Amino acid sequence: MSALHEEQASENPEDDLDFDATIVGAGISGLYQLHLLRKLGMRVRVFESGTGVGGTWYWNRYPGARFDSESYSYGYSFSQELLDEWDWTEHFAPQPETLRYLNYVADKFDLRRDIRFSSRVTATHYDDATSSWNVTLEDGSRHRTRFLVMAIGPLSMPTMPRVPGIEDFEGPSFHTARWPHEPVSFEGKRVAVIGTGATGVQTIQEVAKTVGHLTVFQRRPNWCTPLHNRPIDKAEMQKIREGYPELFKRCRETYACFVHTIDPRGTFEVTPEERRAFWEKLYASPGFGIWQGNFRDILVDRDANRELSDFVAEKIRERVKDPKTAAMLIPDDHGFGTRRVPQESGYYEVYNQPNVELVSILDTPIERITPKGLRTSEKDYEFDIIIYATGFDAITGSFDHIDIRGSKGLPLKQKWSGGPQTFVGVMVEDFPNMFMVMGPHTALGNIPRSIEYNVEWINRLIGFMRERGLTHADATAKSMADWTGFVREKAEGLLSNEIDSWMTGVNQNVEGKQTRILARYSGSAPDYRKRCDAVAEGGFRELTLS
Ligand code: NAP
Repeated sequence: MSALHEEQASENPEDDLDFDATIVGAGISGLYQLHLLRKLGMRVRVFESGTGVGGTWYWNRYPGARFDSESYSYGYSFSQELLDEWDWTEHFAPQPETLRYLNYVADKFDLRRDIRFSSRVTATHYDDATSSWNVTLEDGSRHRTRFLVMAIGPLSMPTMPRVPGIEDFEGPSFHTARWPHEPVSFEGKRVAVIGTGATGVQTIQEVAKTVGHLTVFQRRPNWCTPLHNRPIDKAEMQKIREGYPELFKRCRETYACFVHTIDPRGTFEVTPEERRAFWEKLYASPGFGIWQGNFRDILVDRDANRELSDFVAEKIRERVKDPKTAAMLIPDDHGFGTRRVPQESGYYEVYNQPNVELVSILDTPIERITPKGLRTSEKDYEFDIIIYATGFDAITGSFDHIDIRGSKGLPLKQKWSGGPQTFVGVMVEDFPNMFMVMGPHTALGNIPRSIEYNVEWINRLIGFMRERGLTHADATAKSMADWTGFVREKAEGLLSNEIDSWMTGVNQNVEGKQTRILARYSGSAPDYRKRCDAVAEGGFRELTLS
């Protein structure tokens, strides 16, 4: 920069920036953030690595992918017009419908003109001298921006097993989160699915409908419960629409923003008959009620959790004909609901099909992928297609894959080497003007509800700064330590924090991610919002603003 240029830049530093704000990611978070930042009159650019909008719903095109929160509780709530215009066709919408919805949103709010597709951000470095971020894309281009919003998703970095030979397989193989845009036929094919999390379960039950022969490689089983999906006709959609104000109010009040309300009773405060009847009703009801609308103590009281786990185990035994297979499908290393509960539609019955085989890779580990299939410690298998439903480097993973450096060149990876530290899950000390949507230490739950709140809070802060001509916002060491301490306090006593899962940051496929961390805020969403509202109403005194 020339001396003259420097002088001009210091007179009006904004002139020198390419954008007032840059958003990384055009999923549910990035789209809404773009819409809101524009309302502040800002020049905004979204960089998106995919060729279209939708984030999670753009990438996860695997067979059977669908919501397992009620469709109408999952859509955006910010626009009455949008609520009036959009009809959901199923209580738990399939992925193509959700992707159509997000494209409709992008068109309706004319969002595409500020989104650059096929643009992966590889690095972003803070410049202390100008309080701005230098954002570098994969193609080498660089862009300067005042504010940086990381809307990169908690589950967006797929991971593959760490076994040799993956490249050697001669047939098609796919990770579920990198599914091709063209249809894949399983008719008459020998197919392997590795992984039985929420994704694997949805994939398996869909593939099993047409497959020649299916082999499922399961490491640890999960507790799955019925989704009970059904179509929504016009009349029912009209009723749902009329109920939107009440629905979103309920989602604001519940623990994790779902439509289900926790029962205030303790498991053992009712008679065994009442308990049984309640659980039968929940098991026969749609969605996450059995997880999110159960007795208040099932996720903290070991005896209550065991009792419920026994109930669900009994259901699995009733549904799976072969007792040996049923036993393999019943978890013995964690209780019901302590990992994310996959929702299923005929998943257990798949194992009654003569052309489906379940292999426990705890007993016979996969040793390598071979040109024709794979080899376990017991034998060689041949396949036409291999599907990896092996999950994600969750929550911090998408941050780890970008070279993010804050003030004085400090790498975020280094800042978080002992586990993530954040202020309200949105900011990190020494990373000024960087905001995270659905970053570590935020309330996840029914994700779009949490996203809307996060995005609006970020907009509130940026709006506050612009009204006052402020160009620099940073968390303080104290505000970050306080929040991280609060997150720790809220995690105490929760059985889920004693279990390895993506929710506790454990992934055997990723070097250095074998120990549990405090990855997410596990207190209630209303509590989260109360704290964040207080920060905003108090004029963001927990931050350094200049
Ligand atoms: P996941 O829950 O982490 O499950 C990954 C599966 O792959 C597990 O069964 C895991 O076994 C197995 N696995 C991982 N590495 C393996 C290896 N090297 N060898 C063999 N097996 C391996 O991932 P996910 O199923 O993709 O789901 C992630 C999250 O995405 C869900 O919990 C949910 O929040 C979200 N999701 C949402 C929806 C929806 O809303 N409809 C649908 C799908 C997913 P272990 O359990 O032994 O590690």
